[in-house]
Order: sequence, then C-alpha cells, then structure tokens
Amino acid sequence: TFDRTGVTNESRVRVSVRVRPPFKDEVSEEKNFYLTTTLPPKSSPDDLASVTLGKPGSTKQREFLFDHTFGPQTSQRDVFEGVASPVIEDVLKGGNGTVFAYGQTGTGKTYTMGILQTVEREDEEKKGVVPRALEMIFGEGGVDVTMSFMQVYCESIQDLLGEGGGEGDSSNLQIREDPRKGFYVKNLCEYKVTTYMEAQSLINMGLENRAMAPTLMNITSSRSHTVLTVKVTSENSSHYRKAGKLLLVDLAGSERIRRTTSSGVRLSEARSINASLSALGNVIAALAVGSKHVPFRDSKLTRILQDSLSGKASTALVATVGPAPVNEAESLSTLMFASRCM
Ligand code: ADP
Ligand code: MG
Repeated sequence: TFDRTGVTNESRVRVSVRVRPPFKDEVSEEKNFYLTTTLPPKSSPDDLASVTLGKPGSTKQREFLFDHTFGPQTSQRDVFEGVASPVIEDVLKGGNGTVFAYGQTGTGKTYTMGILQTVEREDEEKKGVVPRALEMIFGEGGVDVTMSFMQVYCESIQDLLGEGGGEGDSSNLQIREDPRKGFYVKNLCEYKVTTYMEAQSLINMGLENRAMAPTLMNITSSRSHTVLTVKVTSENSSHYRKAGKLLLVDLAGSERIRRTTSSGVRLSEARSINASLSALGNVIAALAVGSKHVPFRDSKLTRILQDSLSGKASTALVATVGPAPVNEAESLSTLMFASRCM
C-alpha cells in the first residue's frame, strides 16, 4: 500500500477538517472569510485535500493538507461516510477504532459527534456520528454490544453510567495496568445493549447524570473529554469470535485561556486540558511517524486510549474550525495540531 510516513495507510490516523457554517451574526463578515477548502481531485484516492487560512492574496496565507476537508455545506451523512464509517467497518471486523472531534469550543465538535442529538431527537439529517455508528452496528445483526460512558475532567475519570450517576466512587475512577490488557479503567460500568433504542436511552441516562449529579454540575461539557465506548462481538458460523472496540470521543475545547483573565479553578482547568490535549497530540504524532516510544503514560486520556490507538487500530480525527476572522488564531492552532497527526 501507499506509504507516506513510514507506516502503512491502514494503521495511520485519517485526519480531516470540518468548517462550521457561519452563525447569523457572522454572515456580515462573509467578505472577510479567510478559510477555503478544496476537495481532493478525484484522480487518485491518495490525493489530499487542502485548507487555506488567511485572506486570499495576502502574504500570510497558509495552506494545510489533510485526508479530507469538509466545507460549511457538508452534510452529517457525508462526514460520517467520509471519516467514521471506515472506522466502524474495521470494528465490525474485530478491530479497534476511535473517532475524535478536536477543536475550539463552538466550532461543532459535539454537533459532529452527535452525542447530544440523541437527547434533542433532531431530524434524521442532523444526526451525528454516534447515532449513525450505532445504527450501523445494530444493522449488522448477530452482534453482542456493550457500552460504557465516561468523562475525563482535570485528570479525574467519572463514570456517567455509574451506580451513583457520577457521584461518590464513580466520580473518581482509577486506571489500572494489566500485563495483557494494558491500561483499563477499574470499576467502569459496562452495560449490555440489544437495540439502537436501548443504546440511545443509555446515552441519555448518562447525559442526565452529567447534568444532575451535584459533583458534576459545575463542569461544563466543553471543559471535559467525553468518551463513549462500544464493544462489539460477533461469532460467525464456524464459531470464530470477533471482538471489536469503538471509542467515540468529544474532546474538551482546545482554546487557549488567557492567564490574565483567568485564575483559580479556571486556570488549573485550562492547564489540565492543555496538558491532556498536548499529550494526545504527542501520542498521535508519535504513532504517525511510527516512533518506537509512544508516550501513552503522559495523561489519563492517553492511557485510556492506549489499546484503541496502538497496533492495527483504525483512527479518525475530525478537527473543527469556525469560519469567522475572530477564530483565526484558534483555527491556526487547530490546523497545526491536526497536521501533526497526519
Ligand atoms: P463544540 O462542541 O465544538 O463546542 P457545538 O457542536 O456545540 O460546538 O456547535 C456550536 C453551535 O454550532 C451549535 O449550536 C451547533 O448546533 C452549531 N453547529 C456546529 N456545527 C454545525 C454544522 N456543521 N452545521 C450546522 N450547525 C452547526
Ligand atoms: Mg461541545
């Protein structure tokens, strides 16, 4: 297979960028839009797509290349089919897979992952990655599915489906290391689900717990990493068992918080988020170049992700950016993060 970075195409991270459509109050700035995307030419599946940052013609224009770029008009279906469905196909074959959304708060991570859509029960069109992935998995038939749902906030792991609903013991789970399994989260509740509707209500329960549990109430979802794990096992006619694991991750907002305007809890929160996101970047970048040492130990997030990212894993990162000039600095930092993962 085509080899760009020292690892084969199958095992590297597929990186895409999605530009959110402008909000109403951003429309007037349209003439200033500084982000343009191109689709890859159809000539070869290995061709990359570009994102250009900076006003057209300006000397400060910068171009980045990715596996996919999704402009503001791209539908949820196209994003799913372009980046998530190949990952889920691999999971259904018994592999490990992860889909991440990375980006500044307000740029469409949650919209893209679609964790909240199950609550809002929005129309079909707007369904994000999570409901579409579940539909695809249950559409397969003959699969055993278990799910768990957690969030990582300031290096503490909270079980959104724990007995206490994120309270007490379930609000600070520990990571253990097993010589065979690698890292795992001890006492994380796992539920067997048999239908798409059951899976949806379980997610809704987790989101309600997050909103209701007194220990979690002051945590805005954009300040924590939300991790939904779906384990899929199936057995074929010759009793050959396949066990795949899918992680769907809505990361905390990547924006830099200014030291001068924040202090106390906000500042330590921001430091912790920056530390875990940069640990994630280091891990993916190390995997991308086929490095022998991958620094999984550097944060709880990367420990949780270890077995899903290493080996013959299928990984997709969707970096989301805002279209308005005020987003420019954060978009540049998002594009730089994403291109390091290529
Ligand atoms: P984030 O999770 O990155 O903070 P959200 O997903 O909450 O951002 O998106 C912010 C707002 O923009 C929401 O109101 C969301 O519905 C809207 N939005 C984001 N991406 C899109 C999109 N591609 N199409 C339509 N609306 C979007
Ligand atoms: Mg969000």
